[in-house]
Amino acid sequence: MSWESSLLYYQIINQEVNKRLGGQHSAECIMYSVNFAEIEELQSKNDWEHLTYHMARAARSLERAGANFVLICTNTMHKVAPAVQTEIEIPLLHIADAVGDCIVNQQMKTVGLLGTKFTMEEDFYKQRLSEKYNLDVMIPGRRDRQYVHDVIYKELCHGQINDDSRKRFVEIIDQLYKSGVEGVILGCTEIPLLIKQVDVYPKIFDTVYIHAIKAVDIALS
Ligand code: GLU
Repeated sequence: MSWESSLLYYQIINQEVNKRLGGQHSAECIMYSVNFAEIEELQSKNDWEHLTYHMARAARSLERAGANFVLICTNTMHKVAPAVQTEIEIPLLHIADAVGDCIVNQQMKTVGLLGTKFTMEEDFYKQRLSEKYNLDVMIPGRRDRQYVHDVIYKELCHGQINDDSRKRFVEIIDQLYKSGVEGVILGCTEIPLLIKQVDVYPKIFDTVYIHAIKAVDIALS
């Protein structure tokens, strides 16, 4: 989606493959990089029909190019993941499954979720975590959700990292911690640019890292 987070995926996947295989090894992968302006415009118009069309077309082209499985490198666009999966034969590695497995492995039950308003407020992500992984997912209050959403689109997707925004994110995470969460899902692939584990108390689940590492596990298995 935004190239800022695609870059993180590309780097983590290649570094991990090299760590595991050594030498000159790197990841054989096919990347379909979108024009994020088109995506963002359709998202803000809530035109999920066209977004599904875009994603399905991209996934089909990756399949034709020889991919064995597909990742959508964003949390938000997993809203259309089930529809995309029906358009391709190869599996789609769902980001909420990668993160759900990881949280269960840490034996945690109550987690906070930060992401775009789509991800925090709609069911496609939270419901998968609660129904499939039996997790209790908490989200920030309305004003904080709007703030997080705006920082994602107005700053992080442009590669802007602001200290003031970091401070406010830390306060929002602290608030979730006080409400009883054991961990916090950075459920937007640009948030790891702003928030690191050292910034906050609760365990951070970095969806970019978790999703990318899971892809390496599958690719090398
Ligand atoms: N990358 C963000 C996410 O993980 C938001 C932007 C987008 O891809 O729609 O949700």
